[in-house]
Amino acid sequence: MTGAASALGPAHRDRSLAAMAGEVFDILVVGGGVTGTGAALDAASRGLSVALIEARDYAAGASSKSSKLIHGGLRYLEMLDFGLVREALSERKLLLTELAPHLVRPVPFLWPLTHRGWERPYVGAGLLLYDSIGGRRAVPRARHLSRAGALRLAPALRPDALVGAVQFYDAQEDDARMVACLARTAAGHGCALATNVRMDAARTEGGRVTGVVARDLLADADLTIRARHVVLATGAWTERGRLAVQPSKGVHILVPRHRIASGTGLLARTEKSVLFVIPWGDHWLIGDTDTEWPHDPGRPAACRSDLDYLLAKVNRLLRDPLTLADIEGVFAGLRPLVAAPDTRDTTRLSREHTVRSLAPGLTAIAGGKFTTYRVMARDLIDAAAAGLPGPVPPSRTDTVPLLGAAGYRERWAGRGRLAAASGLPQPQVERLLGRYGSCADDLLDLIGERPDLGRPVEGSGGYLAAEVVYACTHEGAVRLDDVLARRTRTAIEVRDRGLAAAPRVAALMAAELGWDGARAAGEVARYRGLVAADLAAEAEPDDLAAYRAGAPDPVPFYGP
Ligand SMILES: Cc1cc2nc3c(=O)[nH]c(=O)nc-3n(C[C@H](O)[C@H](O)[C@H](O)COP(=O)(O)OP(=O)(O)OC[C@H]3O[C@@H](n4cnc5c(N)ncnc54)[C@H](O)[C@@H]3O)c2cc1C
Repeated sequence: MTGAASALGPAHRDRSLAAMAGEVFDILVVGGGVTGTGAALDAASRGLSVALIEARDYAAGASSKSSKLIHGGLRYLEMLDFGLVREALSERKLLLTELAPHLVRPVPFLWPLTHRGWERPYVGAGLLLYDSIGGRRAVPRARHLSRAGALRLAPALRPDALVGAVQFYDAQEDDARMVACLARTAAGHGCALATNVRMDAARTEGGRVTGVVARDLLADADLTIRARHVVLATGAWTERGRLAVQPSKGVHILVPRHRIASGTGLLARTEKSVLFVIPWGDHWLIGDTDTEWPHDPGRPAACRSDLDYLLAKVNRLLRDPLTLADIEGVFAGLRPLVAAPDTRDTTRLSREHTVRSLAPGLTAIAGGKFTTYRVMARDLIDAAAAGLPGPVPPSRTDTVPLLGAAGYRERWAGRGRLAAASGLPQPQVERLLGRYGSCADDLLDLIGERPDLGRPVEGSGGYLAAEVVYACTHEGAVRLDDVLARRTRTAIEVRDRGLAAAPRVAALMAAELGWDGARAAGEVARYRGLVAADLAAEAEPDDLAAYRAGAPDPVPFYGP
């Protein structure tokens, strides 16, 4: 079993809120995306006292809406941004081999070539560089393919869409799960964390920020949290003050795996960027778009023209074109890009991160990529630590594996035995190991004690009832959409977006979180409203109409 300290259940939330009301922390982190949870882990593993508040849920912002790639970014190589690519590829290797081998895995991509002559040497040289910067053995090396070889690997491709191809490797993860895992790992290092707590204002004494005034949205109560330094990792919400963020909307669609006959992911150039077709369980994840989003960052919405754009781009490659009817899931997120004075074209904005002191005792970060969260977290805490009394040790997160990494490889090797002992089919055990690492032990123990929890929740896309229970007892889930959209990915993996599964999931959550019948029914009704608003937005022709049709942000906007 994993240590009790890392179990983000209701008791941990209560303890954290009591500590937040009484203690003065070294560092208070605002924002529970990958940057904020990464910063909390960085600071806590240096021995600092740390608290984190998140207005919604872990990863409720961009960190559950990414392409889910841990990558150097071939696009940035082409833009000659070698520093960014090198840094990202070194993080890719560290995550794959040391820090999160249970969550991050290699993924193959086929890059179809469309021009004879110059393109193969050009792409080949780029991928050779990509592989050599990426270091040996982290992922297999790129290989060249003839058109016939490429069509054998990806029979779905139109023969006239390519003259040959190169296959290369990057890495992928489930972004929302990784953030929940970071939060748990930070808790294991003594960090106090609470979701559904929104920062409303900075608390200032003698010209220095000494904490925040916040609202516990579950208890509907204000609280003051004191800290020697406050760091803002609020992503697209960091749009006011001295660090201007220009949110860029990115939309993905999911289609069933059988609709594209291919044994490899695909990458294709578009006019301004690239299109990815990424294997994702029983689906292909197709994305993404890159457009300015001037509306409330709380609820970016996909519109019909986003879906049409993605279908048009992917259909240029396919023998059997996809239609709107093939789309089973949709999600939209906002890249928190640092604004530049000379352009509003979000495809041209840098993906580098910026750390800035906003006031004595207050530092903010923006920009960056999921892949480089650890570097961003280190830079943020280095900046904050400079203002703390006394020496602070350097970051050590390059040697701190995420929860579930230790013992993962041994369990993977013994997965046949685990399956036999638990009575679960081996593919199910493999799935659990790939989502929880060695913490899969906790789920197997739970199923051992309550065998009914070993069955999938109907309509959820195959997630076990035990996973719903565990999300509440160990992974900080407190609202129905926390489970359906982020701890599991039911919301994007089943055609009805999880509506059929919602009542059963709510009933399982109610038993763990002490909800009465009215609260459980309220959660289901709220979830239905969110799905209906998404569907309405997707039917609208453009962003403004989609924004108006979409649901309002359940947490009212506040830009710190
Ligand atoms: C479409 C898309 C595709 C992407 N693909 C990739 C990819 O494949 N690989 C990659 O490396 N990167 C990718 N990225 C980039 C990456 O996802 C982001 O850079 C990263 O997730 C940003 O994390 P964050 O923690 O800074 O922001 P967020 O995840 O947005 O977190 C900010 C958090 O702050 C909280 N918050 C805001 N205001 C308050 C307040 N007042 N009080 C308390 N909490 C508050 C919000 O609720 C939110 O949870 C992609 C991004 C997008 C949008």
